[in-house]
Amino acid sequence: MSPRDERRGGARVRGAQARRSAASIPERRVVFVVAEGERTEREYLGRIDGKYGRRHGFHLRFPEGTHGRKPSEVVDDAEKLADDDVETWAFFDRDQHPGIPQAMAAARKAGIRVAFSHPAFELWLLLHFQQFAAPQGGDNARATRELRRKPGFEDYDRSQRDGKGITADRFDALTADGGIARAVRNARRLDDDCPSGCCSGRDPKEEGHPPGRCDPIRRDPSTGVWRLIEGLGITDTRSQKG
Ligand SMILES: [Zn+2]
Repeated sequence: MSPRDERRGGARVRGAQARRSAASIPERRVVFVVAEGERTEREYLGRIDGKYGRRHGFHLRFPEGTHGRKPSEVVDDAEKLADDDVETWAFFDRDQHPGIPQAMAAARKAGIRVAFSHPAFELWLLLHFQQFAAPQGGDNARATRELRRKPGFEDYDRSQRDGKGITADRFDALTADGGIARAVRNARRLDDDCPSGCCSGRDPKEEGHPPGRCDPIRRDPSTGVWRLIEGLGITDTRSQKG
């Protein structure tokens, strides 16, 4: 099924469900995610969906045929899905990619939300356990090394079997003791004190960081993943410790 067909199918199914059970079952909010990379983001968000989706009324979907390998390709794929009715997110990393401001501008124009991680998504994983605020110059090695000190992640990106996957054990470690709320708090703190030094990270329209004023390359380190996670309503800090 092409992403466009899938989007239409999804909208149709949701409409039918809403008619059948208008009063009893609330309609779930569908969110499309297009992510760079082979499996980490997809498996993490798939487990978020499995654990919290039904309870919190959302459904994260990863449309077939979206295989962006760099930011501009991720945004291109997301654009094929973009629709006023469906929330679409593009996930990509700083790494050493060129063209990040351009990819962000294209996303903005198409109404696509962006979760940008600098240096990479592993920072977001690490923030479930601890804060990590030292600039990395786009190099992901130190954040990955820190992550490997955490339970379940000892062989992260080293073993053949689990590689960069988010196994059930790894996800349990991430979410133990209010880990998700901790990650949101840590990431938000990085944003609030924007590492670019040029903004407050609180622009309401621009994922916190106004384009032209805040250079994404200088947001080192930071990750915007918390904006999606918090928006899904799964981090009620009043009920979670940590
Ligand atoms: Zn900023």
